Amino acid sequence: MQCRFQIVPVAGKGLGAVATVAIAQGEWVLRDDPPLLRLGATEMARFDHRWPCELRRSEEYIRAREKHFEAPLQAQLRELSVPQQQAVLALHSRQGSEGLAGIFFTNALPTEQEEDWVLCETASRFNSSCQQNAVYQWSERQSSASIRAVWDIPVGEEISVFYGSTEQLLSPGVQRREFLSFWGFDCCCPACSARGSDDNRRRIRELSARLDGTEIVQLPMVERYSLAVTRLQLYQAEKLFFAGYFRALAACVQLSQAADAPLAERRLWAEMALRHAQLFHAEDAALLDHCAAAVEASRDS
Ligand SMILES: [Zn+2]
Repeated sequence: MQCRFQIVPVAGKGLGAVATVAIAQGEWVLRDDPPLLRLGATEMARFDHRWPCELRRSEEYIRAREKHFEAPLQAQLRELSVPQQQAVLALHSRQGSEGLAGIFFTNALPTEQEEDWVLCETASRFNSSCQQNAVYQWSERQSSASIRAVWDIPVGEEISVFYGSTEQLLSPGVQRREFLSFWGFDCCCPACSARGSDDNRRRIRELSARLDGTEIVQLPMVERYSLAVTRLQLYQAEKLFFAGYFRALAACVQLSQAADAPLAERRLWAEMALRHAQLFHAEDAALLDHCAAAVEASRDS
């Protein structure tokens, strides 16, 4: 695969990955990047357990954690080839920290379901943004990380992923920044700096709770559909085209049919959903069939 980015200094963030070619939505940016170092969720939890929750972001905690995990990480490093060792040691470490553990906790990424933490040679160099233009995916089966574009990325734009889960991405900025302090940085992405972003994300959470709640059945279909459209527009305003976005789009497809919305609207949602499924869920034949059937239905009826 042709390399689509270079690692260069990025203002305020040390190094970051910047696109060297135009990357289209859905395209892979990086594939099958294996972990060089890994810490298990159990060991991490065992260490955390000794610390009261409110101290788990403190400088004292961070230093103790680095000290505790330095030896096991050094043992793993010795197992790597010399070029791999050099690649690890060349990674950036948060200010004030020393040693391999400092590098690890500045750069590690969560594996599936955030069980373990891994440091990958290349994936770990992508910075986090709460308005990510790419998505980081971990495959436990292949034991490797991959990154793909969630929207069109022009040449020269920094490629960013979000380090946490969908739930964390939609959480209030204060909570998000606390979660991100695991890596020892203050997030200053567009979403964390924009005034309206917190409001938009709060409304997405509220609308999702309503649309998924049991009381929604009391609402006429037309109103349910209108809530689903509002939620989708909020996702678009936040430029969140991955986490939860497809679900929001699928709700528009389904509720526009149920509410007997104008055919042009139904077709719009159905075509958007089909395109998204083709880009990001190409392996799910049943889903593709389902989306294609919705497009057909919006043409025929
Ligand atoms: Zn942010």
